[in-house]
Amino acid sequence: MHNQYTDLFVNLPEVNVQQIVEIDKQTIHIQIVPKSCKQACPICRSDRSVIRKGSNQTRKIRHTDAFGKIVYILAPAIRLFCKNCQAGFVWKYSFVRPGRRYSTAFEQQAIRTASVSTVKQSAEIYHIPASTLQTKHQQWLSVESERLRQLA
Ligand SMILES: [Zn+2]
Repeated sequence: MHNQYTDLFVNLPEVNVQQIVEIDKQTIHIQIVPKSCKQACPICRSDRSVIRKGSNQTRKIRHTDAFGKIVYILAPAIRLFCKNCQAGFVWKYSFVRPGRRYSTAFEQQAIRTASVSTVKQSAEIYHIPASTLQTKHQQWLSVESERLRQLA
């Protein structure tokens, strides 16, 4: 059966969707959990001595809009501990950088929009602070112009 939201998850292969909640006409919340039960320790690069230590709060991450709706991913901030290294760390999702409130896909979408309209307009479209977007757009521009310079 084709779920109307299936396409949304094509870019989230590492997670299982637990629940999709339509908050209102404009907003949906997608509750996810990681498919695997452990992640490798960032120090020894092994998951052999890693144990789960429960979850902190849930992270609410803005994802790319779909079906004219604003999409938030609700992801548990799972705490892990490596007994080998005595190191605690938090689950890393590939679709969002640590500590960020926007998914990488969303940031790309917002940054591209910023390059065709003005930064202020994009900030309004995506409801994120213009200063944040300005910084990201400048970062993108410098990366992009460096890339073009190397091509030339
Ligand atoms: Zn370790």
